Amino acid sequence: MPNILDTEIQYLPGIGPKRADILAKEVGIHTFRDLLYFFPFRWIDKSKIYSISEVTPESAYVQVRGVIVKTTMVGGGHKKRFVATLQDATGSIDLVFFSGLKWITDKIKEKSEFIVFGKVSEFNGALNMIHPEVTPPSQAYAYGTGSMVGIYSTTEKMKSAGLGIKVITKFENTLLEKILPAIHETLPEDLLHRKSLCSLQFALKNIHFPHNEDSLLKARNRLKFEELFYLQLSLLKQKNVRMSHEGGLTMSKVGDNFNKCYNALPYPLTGAQKRVIKEMRADMMSGKQMNRLLQGDVGSGKTLVAVLLALIAVDNGYQACIMAPTEVLANQHLTSITKFLAPTSATVALLTGSTKAKGRKQILEDLAAGKINIIVGTHALIEDRVQFRNLGFAVIDEQHRFGVDQRSRLWNKGTTTKTTDKLANGDKPTDSSTLFPHILVMTATPIPRTLAMTLYGDLDVSVLDELPPDRKPVQTMHAWESQRPKVYAFMKQQIKAGHQIFIVYPLIKESEKMDYENLEAGYQSIIQEFKAPEYITAVVHGQQKTADKDFDMQLFAQGKANILVATSVIEVGVDVPNATVMVIESSERFGLSQLHQLRGRVGRGSEKSYCILMSGYKLSRESRKRLELMCGTTDGFKLAEEDMKMRGPGDLEGTTQSGLAIDLHIASLYQDGRILENARQTALKILSDDPLLQSPANQLLTRQIAVLRHQGKDATDYSQIS
Ligand code: ADP
Ligand code: MG
Repeated sequence: MPNILDTEIQYLPGIGPKRADILAKEVGIHTFRDLLYFFPFRWIDKSKIYSISEVTPESAYVQVRGVIVKTTMVGGGHKKRFVATLQDATGSIDLVFFSGLKWITDKIKEKSEFIVFGKVSEFNGALNMIHPEVTPPSQAYAYGTGSMVGIYSTTEKMKSAGLGIKVITKFENTLLEKILPAIHETLPEDLLHRKSLCSLQFALKNIHFPHNEDSLLKARNRLKFEELFYLQLSLLKQKNVRMSHEGGLTMSKVGDNFNKCYNALPYPLTGAQKRVIKEMRADMMSGKQMNRLLQGDVGSGKTLVAVLLALIAVDNGYQACIMAPTEVLANQHLTSITKFLAPTSATVALLTGSTKAKGRKQILEDLAAGKINIIVGTHALIEDRVQFRNLGFAVIDEQHRFGVDQRSRLWNKGTTTKTTDKLANGDKPTDSSTLFPHILVMTATPIPRTLAMTLYGDLDVSVLDELPPDRKPVQTMHAWESQRPKVYAFMKQQIKAGHQIFIVYPLIKESEKMDYENLEAGYQSIIQEFKAPEYITAVVHGQQKTADKDFDMQLFAQGKANILVATSVIEVGVDVPNATVMVIESSERFGLSQLHQLRGRVGRGSEKSYCILMSGYKLSRESRKRLELMCGTTDGFKLAEEDMKMRGPGDLEGTTQSGLAIDLHIASLYQDGRILENARQTALKILSDDPLLQSPANQLLTRQIAVLRHQGKDATDYSQIS
């Protein structure tokens, strides 16, 4: 029997094909279900009417009541608009309309009274509302039974097609009346009872039309719990499935190579490094495949951890690979790894997109023959023609640049017995005689542990929460454009003391061309101010030829250039301990985590280091807060938490910035930590009794996971990491 929720939205009375088309394009509503789960993003108390003198641009959505005292048509052509001035006893406000003018001029006449609902903004010092909803007092409060009213997000296109908040509200009402009785419960009865959660029917009704604040709270709570619970349950179950099927390569030996490298280290490992190495050694000996995320702030020494574990693989007769997101970084890794490996007999090679054909051929041969123990490289490593003799350990550095798909392509390289089944994204291996390499994913994106476990649900998590002891916190300052001469003087002083300097320009996709122009202009003014031959300035950006980029990068890395002007390509991983100053241009355009990553490029040696955040005078409140936070702390985890507090739910810019794309409907990973933890514990408990959810008592859960998966909302989708 077809589910009524799958009915196309055009068949809901009042919608029709044209509006259905707009709903689909603008907000992705295709079916009854989509509309049902199109929740308000805010609820207001509509019994409250503000006086006009009370409202400010900060007050978001408000309701005012007054009389129209003046109407005018302003401007012409494209900019034509209708302005109606509404007045109450305390003041007046302009209502501005750009489209639907004919309809609106008919409706809004002088001397008529309206209840007006909308978002207040400010224009030329006066308050106005753009395209508010206007209702004669006689027709107000038409929908719902309570005084709380949901606000749905609508776009300009929707509004001009007559799909404003009020109309959406009416459709939700129609829909609920039609289908609510047919909605089946999706959480087990005993769970609802145990967790004091309301029923699904109650929740869906009250999320759209809350009876009062308490029922709204209950509704949201239940829906958030359900969403996070099924996310956790499906991720954790998937992990159980993997654990039950796969064997792993057993690497029980700690051999010569490891010991020689370890004993020759110029510094002792930090406590955190020792701890995570121990955790991962246990995985590698366990007979199960390791899939682990290593989280560690910039400069916490992740590379060394990876190298030591790679040597364990080598000592047990396997090959290892270390994959980095950029060529610059792969080169750097090669340099530092070569140093670490000097006392050992392990061999290492580099493979990137720009490895010359002849060298490449040799490398591929040696790799297949097992003559190379450790290979460092970029995406080039996952190409089909790259064949290992026996890959046993694969490291992916800076995870956020790679997807789940690439991870599974790495697994495929490790087959010790040939299998013809290629692993699709998220699929589990089917041939149980196939053994896959242990996987270590490393990231410097500091996110709270629970969050990490959610986002990378199928990975175990280790945290490097300690920096090497010689590090001094980087002193961070904000500087306005007018302070630039002072900044330059300071830079010269640092160069005189023998130090090096990074200057970074933002590179944001949409305005790429302009960004390069800014960088170019910046570079020109730097070489004017810092004249050769007294000062040498290198420049690195994405539009250079690789050879030029490498040349300039090497110039700086080897200490031959005093200044490196760059786009944020240097964000990931470059290690130049002699660099003590990081100047970030237009710093207000960077996100908090990116600023922190960039700052991590300095303060790697034992000298005192500085980070200077340049900015223009126009700062949004958020930018100002970000810069303040940066100046106030160097603790990556603290910054990450603050970052999350600052972000509202569903801030996609924020999630993509940290590379974590996760599509939640109502819950927010940033704000619903407590519910998340509760949901996770609940899922863990259920799975500890029934790891694969096979018992009849858990049938509803299994079925619901399948339904969600069918709707494209299952765990493998959630954990898409781009
Ligand atoms: P990240 O975690 O950001 O990748 P790296 O692995 O690049 O950090 O390490 C940063 C710097 O710290 C390197 O120069 C590395 O040699 C050094 N380092 C690593 N471990 C230690 C340690 N235990 N004590 C002192 N310095 C260390
Ligand atoms: Mg690194």
